[in-house]
Amino acid sequence: MVDLPKTIKQWQMVQPTAKNKETGEVTPGKLEMAEIPVPELKEGEVLVQIAGCGVCHTDLGYFYDMVPTVSKPPLALGHEIAGTVVAGDPAWIGKEVIIPAVMPCRKCELCKTGRGNRCLAQKMPGNSIGVYGGFASHIPVPTIDLCEVKNRGSYALEQLAVIADAVTTPYQAAKRADLQPGDNVIVIGATGGVGVYMAQTAKALGAKTVIGIARNEEKLKRALDYGCDHVISTVDKTNKDVVGDFKAFCKSKGLSGTGWKIFEVTGSKPGQGLALDLLSFVGKLILVGFGMAKNEYMFSKLMAFDAEVIGTWGCLPEYYPIVLDMVLSKKIVIDPFVEVRPMSTIAATFDEIHKAGSPAKRVVLTPDFK
Ligand SMILES: [Zn+2]
Ligand SMILES: [Zn+2]
Repeated sequence: MVDLPKTIKQWQMVQPTAKNKETGEVTPGKLEMAEIPVPELKEGEVLVQIAGCGVCHTDLGYFYDMVPTVSKPPLALGHEIAGTVVAGDPAWIGKEVIIPAVMPCRKCELCKTGRGNRCLAQKMPGNSIGVYGGFASHIPVPTIDLCEVKNRGSYALEQLAVIADAVTTPYQAAKRADLQPGDNVIVIGATGGVGVYMAQTAKALGAKTVIGIARNEEKLKRALDYGCDHVISTVDKTNKDVVGDFKAFCKSKGLSGTGWKIFEVTGSKPGQGLALDLLSFVGKLILVGFGMAKNEYMFSKLMAFDAEVIGTWGCLPEYYPIVLDMVLSKKIVIDPFVEVRPMSTIAATFDEIHKAGSPAKRVVLTPDFK
């Protein structure tokens, strides 16, 4: 049965990394264990006992890079959560759930017109629902957006936490691109934390050809087993070289060079620059990754190409059951890309991922509070 907690235990970001503008002196961020009361649950809310919460680059942005959270610290970070309902609406108690990373308001213009994934009043655990986040023992959330996990087979519930963000974002991106069976797809950053799922999602949705582009040769080789039909390494190549490789591949396979849907997942300047160079006639470029860099581009090319550049943000909660199904039916494989660790390693894990830039696997932290 379920345990009702007396308190909620959290790893709180007491203070993010701070930099003195005048002296340039850096004060390291601080994570501390804290115990807070269980809040009174409102109508339509439940308390979820957290099985695991994935560490996302967004969390590191808040902790290291001075990206502000909507709710001011101290708060628990973490928005990639799976767990079990332990209190609130009796209809939900005992159910295993995935909590969507962004929960739309369902009242605004965007929500009413099917664009709720970019609702401006959306709530995100570990950012905009007060002190509550995923790096904790429990979290109160509305039931309306919860994705029930009915039969998770051989997966541990905590592994499925990655569906809350890393696996669903590519699905939304594919929808934005109007990805259809038979489409030809390029994934730039195909070996990264989101890229591995972008390639698999595209293939699972029926893409004819998926080309993965990245730097790491070993991971690129692995990508051939997970969604990619062909891979191109960018190491020691100019964009022109990569475009040349792409064209040579198309020619060798008798594929058209037009109408490719390019998913740029890195958010980096070189990744976005390459995506723009690969974009061609009636093609679509979908920006899935975020970065602060700028690229120069002759915009008139879009006109001449009759091409599109599209942004995509988060994922509608209504798509979560579809993505969960794709994972449980192994159309999208997650276990080689997920590593589970105790939550008490949070500070060391943050540091490690921050320094590594691109970790080998997505780390999911499981609560181990005493
Ligand atoms: Zn995230
Ligand atoms: Zn809304």
